[in-house]
Amino acid sequence: MKIINARIVDGTGRAPVADGVVVTDDNGDLVHVGRAEDAPATAPDTHVLDVAGRTVLPGFIDCHVHLGAESGRALSERFARDDTVETFRTARRLRRTLDAGITTARDLGGLPAGFRVAVAEGLIEGPRLHTAVRIIGHTGGHADFTTPSGFDPSGGVGEIADDPYEVRKAVRRLLREGADVIKLCATGGMGSPHDQPEDEGLTVEEIRAVVDEVRRHGGRPVAAHAQGTAGILNAIRGGVTSIEHGYGLDAEARELAGEQGVFVVPTLSTVFDGIDKATMAPYHYEKKTRWSGITKENISAAIADGLRIAMGTDAAISPHGQNLRELLHLVSLGMSPRDAIATGTRVAAELLGLDDRVGTLEAGKAADLVVCDGDPLADISLLADPTHIRCVIQQGVIRKNTLTARAELID
Ligand SMILES: [Zn+2]
Repeated sequence: MKIINARIVDGTGRAPVADGVVVTDDNGDLVHVGRAEDAPATAPDTHVLDVAGRTVLPGFIDCHVHLGAESGRALSERFARDDTVETFRTARRLRRTLDAGITTARDLGGLPAGFRVAVAEGLIEGPRLHTAVRIIGHTGGHADFTTPSGFDPSGGVGEIADDPYEVRKAVRRLLREGADVIKLCATGGMGSPHDQPEDEGLTVEEIRAVVDEVRRHGGRPVAAHAQGTAGILNAIRGGVTSIEHGYGLDAEARELAGEQGVFVVPTLSTVFDGIDKATMAPYHYEKKTRWSGITKENISAAIADGLRIAMGTDAAISPHGQNLRELLHLVSLGMSPRDAIATGTRVAAELLGLDDRVGTLEAGKAADLVVCDGDPLADISLLADPTHIRCVIQQGVIRKNTLTARAELID
């Protein structure tokens, strides 16, 4: 494939190329990304996509989604769910996420590894997936949704473990089920009825045990759900790869995160989008409004400090299929559009350990890319609206194309 008339923002931080051409090979890898005059000759039957001056960017990576769950669904509805129907609903959410420009997604709880296999085998179309499968947490903690009557309306999203030996066993169970990333709860949360974001979750000793057990089995990223300051500090001291949410990331925590190169995934969409008193449980609404001010202050400071911020939305809590609204929120807290794009491309790929294949547009990497109307470096809101994401290409295969037939020519 050859993409012509493109403004290329390649995700490396280099200046955009105005009259750019992208060439891919038969495997869907990038051969050329850059100026038209430097492009190699292509075979006469090469598929040519004329994007008419639109912007080509790397496919985006959402580091924090829950594709197995829908926003705004009542617990009673989950109780009545049919597993087969749920599977098809999840497939539809994968499609909507892909259409929003997300070519890779990391699911942090509730998605069986079979979905990753189904996407990889081409049985369904969706983002390339990494999944945590379930979430390690304490009895009664953030991942434990059991009601006083003993019923778990979440369908078992928690991997409950209560001491250093149990958390090691929990890690092994999750790896056996194909987890690409291990998720643990270092604090309470907003959506859980029995605890507060300030509450601590796994102890430092337990977090170290998780990190060590993962290391003993070849290593994977360890993601910590961490909202209050004490739990954030425990997570960083315990050696996790990323702080998810990080709302209470105060000066001490920011300094420690910077020193250790810990990633921060602020999930601002869940703090600032979808807050609706009418549909949310009262405890949930109260926690969200109280924490949005704290979040603004600490995440703005994290941006100013230059921490490694990777994009994640917590979609399911925020709506699915609007993932790149997260970039708007990052820019509203002081980040430049170019850096915001990097959080969802280059930096996210580094967090997932996929930076040798995706995250930037460079020869030899996979041709995962999106075509966006206009210039998102001048107006980041263009990316936030899926109707402006005109093409989505994954490993050289066109997954979405809403450009007119006139603009797409075969030569
Ligand atoms: Zn989450």
